[in-house]
Amino acid sequence: MRIGILGAGQLGRMLAQAGERLGHSFVFYDLTPGEATQGIGTTITGGFAEHEKLAVFAGQCDVITYEFENIPGDTARFLATLAPVSPPPRALEISQDRLREKNFFTELGFETPAFAPASTKEELYDACDRVGYPCVIKTRQLGYDGKGQARASAKENVERIWSELGSTPLIVEAFVPFSRELSIIGARDSGGSIVVYPLAHNIHVSGILHRTEMPAPSVPPETTARAHAIITKILNALEYVGVLTIELFDLDGRLLINELAPRVHNSGHVSLDSITTSQFENHIRAVSGMPLGSTAPLSKGVMYNIVGTFPSFDQVRKLPRTAVHLYGKSERAGRKIGHITLLDPTPEAEAVVTQALAER
Ligand code: AMP
Repeated sequence: MRIGILGAGQLGRMLAQAGERLGHSFVFYDLTPGEATQGIGTTITGGFAEHEKLAVFAGQCDVITYEFENIPGDTARFLATLAPVSPPPRALEISQDRLREKNFFTELGFETPAFAPASTKEELYDACDRVGYPCVIKTRQLGYDGKGQARASAKENVERIWSELGSTPLIVEAFVPFSRELSIIGARDSGGSIVVYPLAHNIHVSGILHRTEMPAPSVPPETTARAHAIITKILNALEYVGVLTIELFDLDGRLLINELAPRVHNSGHVSLDSITTSQFENHIRAVSGMPLGSTAPLSKGVMYNIVGTFPSFDQVRKLPRTAVHLYGKSERAGRKIGHITLLDPTPEAEAVVTQALAER
């Protein structure tokens, strides 16, 4: 099949690498040629409102998918008139607005941090009072990796945060003193079959994912069952096709939903090495109408992101059962340029990796 991917970053790269092994070919569409997808498939450059170029792209695709969630909903809906688009544009639109997203979770009967919207300074003060301090003030749209958000410990912080973020609609969330952050990744095919990956435990540094462990250690069976119920209900409610990720706050066994990502997720990169069928392969399987593959673990897995600059790999490469994945991207502050997976994540091996990352 010819599979079109909106976006030409590292997620597109890893999707295409998995898909080429299944005999598919790939066409990317993005504003500029992606460094990460150079030499893989073909790329069409254009804006997301340029219908003529989008139509040329769609003409080269049997199915279309996307690798990041800030594709305008109108673009996905326009393309859907020309070729099948998966995951459904509705999932994309829900994920693009934190208020719509929280209302969606609440309507399905799931718990989120307490929240209130605000579009004016008065509404912001009022929303913070209703949610209570400390709280997290976020832009409703276009936030990622901790950008577009700020924590307010007290009323005195609100004026400053309003001047930083207030040019766009906001949402106030109660600050959750979570015991840990988890994510659950699942895939659904067009026949309604679902597979779910082991829960992942995620640690963020400066708002960017730093370390993922899959399966998350010491998870009580009730927590696993709750996470499975959450992702299954959401996959079915959206008549979803593809891989979906739900980010969760674990508050001593209570699971609050933070957000959804209608795509493969950074916390699932570990699955390339540690799970029978990676998240990338299962996404391609789902959108191309192939049966989903097993999500049984082959091994424990711990992943560290490489952000900004490359470390020295001299010591890392000596570690057994370790994989270094580089995305073909150049160094830039805050940019995800690769990841390291440890399949034998002893404390000593992790120390070698964290030291290499710290020494940059
Ligand atoms: P987000 O972009 O919403 O995923 O937020 C990025 C990170 O900020 C999350 O992974 C959490 O570590 C933290 N965070 C976001 N919202 C909250 C909240 N309501 N309470 C506590 N921490 C939060």
